[in-house]
Amino acid sequence: MLLGHLGVSLLAHRYLQADLAPVVVAGVFPDVVDKGLCQGLRVLPSGRMWGHTLLGLTVSTVLAGRLWGRRAASSWAVGYLGHLVADLEGQVPWLYPFAPYDFSPSPSFWGILRQQLTRPGAIVLEVLLLGWAAVAVLRDA
Ligand SMILES: [Zn+2]
Repeated sequence: MLLGHLGVSLLAHRYLQADLAPVVVAGVFPDVVDKGLCQGLRVLPSGRMWGHTLLGLTVSTVLAGRLWGRRAASSWAVGYLGHLVADLEGQVPWLYPFAPYDFSPSPSFWGILRQQLTRPGAIVLEVLLLGWAAVAVLRDA
């Protein structure tokens, strides 16, 4: 969920010296793309498709490099990869469209939120992760 992805990005900023803006934006980018197209515009069947692939990682990193330079691109790649790894509790279609995946229909935004609320342990873990990241980043500011 969002809090966990922000936490992972902030930890990458702190411990891997990734630039803050690209690592944080890339850390939420796969969900912005796929959930925006699935739950928002309803043009994709799943909230984990194109944005959750190695192809999406590669293309967006190349674009980030062209737009903002090499350092921002490497920070972007770290944030993006951190998002995909953090999503491993579910299906991540790493090789789509080069390999077949079963994209079962995703729930709505409210359905996703309801699912998350039934897993209080996961919420606590994400809050703790974000808290650790915030302390780690702010301590050195
Ligand atoms: Zn995701």
